[in-house]
Amino acid sequence: MSQYRTIPAIHRLLELPSLGEAVDRFGRPPVIRACRSAVDRLRRHIAEGAIEVHDIATATEILEPDILSDLQRATRPAYREVINATGVLIHTNLGRSPLPTDRLSRLESYLALEFDLASGRRGQRLAPLRARIAAVCGAEAAVMVNNNAAALLLILSTHAVGREVIVSRGQLIEIGGSFRLPDVMAASGCRLVEVGCTNRTHLADFEAAIGDDTAAILVAHQSNFRIVGFTTEPATADLAELAHRHDLPFIVDQGSGCLHDLRRWGLPAEPTVGELLADGADLVCFSGDKLLGGPQAGIIVGRGEWVEPLGRHPLYRALRPDKTALTLMDQVLAAHHADRLEEIPLYAMMSASIDTLTRRARRIGGRLRKRGVPARGCPMRAALGGGTTPEETMPSYGLAVTGGQALHDRLREGDPPVIGRLVDDEVLLDLRSVRPSEDPVLERSLAAAYSGLKIRQDDGI
Ligand SMILES: *Cc1c(COP(=O)(O)O)cnc(C)c1O
Repeated sequence: MSQYRTIPAIHRLLELPSLGEAVDRFGRPPVIRACRSAVDRLRRHIAEGAIEVHDIATATEILEPDILSDLQRATRPAYREVINATGVLIHTNLGRSPLPTDRLSRLESYLALEFDLASGRRGQRLAPLRARIAAVCGAEAAVMVNNNAAALLLILSTHAVGREVIVSRGQLIEIGGSFRLPDVMAASGCRLVEVGCTNRTHLADFEAAIGDDTAAILVAHQSNFRIVGFTTEPATADLAELAHRHDLPFIVDQGSGCLHDLRRWGLPAEPTVGELLADGADLVCFSGDKLLGGPQAGIIVGRGEWVEPLGRHPLYRALRPDKTALTLMDQVLAAHHADRLEEIPLYAMMSASIDTLTRRARRIGGRLRKRGVPARGCPMRAALGGGTTPEETMPSYGLAVTGGQALHDRLREGDPPVIGRLVDDEVLLDLRSVRPSEDPVLERSLAAAYSGLKIRQDDGI
């Protein structure tokens, strides 16, 4: 008898209790699709001689778990929730800042998004949020778009098309994910005029480059790198004064969205958005999902005469944020405004004391050791990440577990995946980037990954 004839028909497979439950849970079409692909796989294996099946019961035994795991993969969310134990708080590959979600349930109802409740007429989408952004940043006016790359594109497209923008050679930055300042400038249709040298640029270099075609002076924050040693860049206040003497706007791509003195968290100070405005910047743009701790967004603040035209540019319509981002941003800005930073997950993590982190590590570590997992408490250094303060780290605490690459991989393949750092033979799990509510899940995942590892080692695999 041909082995293929031992493969049960799809309608027979659907009679299995487990698949009946799956139909109730996921609906019929995905279950049928999973059955078909499992059957195809089995046929292929038979054809290749990798598997031999001589009766329907054996074929069913092979197919059932394959179908169920296929279904699980196919029906889970496209973006998996992970436990970030890397100690990098703004982890671009893990969605940058974790978000406060209290207000998300409001999206179930309609919102007065572009509706003026006083007059009953059409309103402006950004009007309700603008005043709040401006107040938090100490700015005259504000605009929000989808990300900081879009913010810069909008600024340059509005104010510098076909004209020259002067930038220091020390600031022609590339941020991960294909943001390159010269490329964004080219895409917006302005001409980049580079001045100075990689390590040293002087005010006089900018002054000498100003001509009839100059549209603006642009400063970009050296987000993810530092030039150290024999270096100089002109002070922002001096650049602003120079720009204004020539009736030019002074634009700063601040990047991180730093609103507070970072020394509060033991980090070196970097210029805040408010300080740049006070120094005379006309337009400052930054990301919403870095140090602001909010959703992906690009925020532009500054003087009314330079900000207002941005909202009238046709590109603005293409770059405007959706109501989800606007709602989340509103909540995050309200917390910044009230200095209730602990309501923003990023700041709760930044503010956690070493004592608290040590206590958490001891608790998890103690329980894990009882289950035979060699986890030890270990001081570590966490980083803000996201292209902010690239060299500086803050004290942190976590767990170190021996288990090498195999444990590292198993943790990542777990449910939920746990992402740590492999250093020599130990997986380091930094608790500063793990929410305290995730501790029990982290403990379970670690125990599961470790016992899986033990079994494999005992089997000699
Ligand atoms: C992060 C960053 C960008 C890119 O911002 P996105 O919001 O990711 O588009 C641009 N410039 C600077 C200085 C940055 O730090």
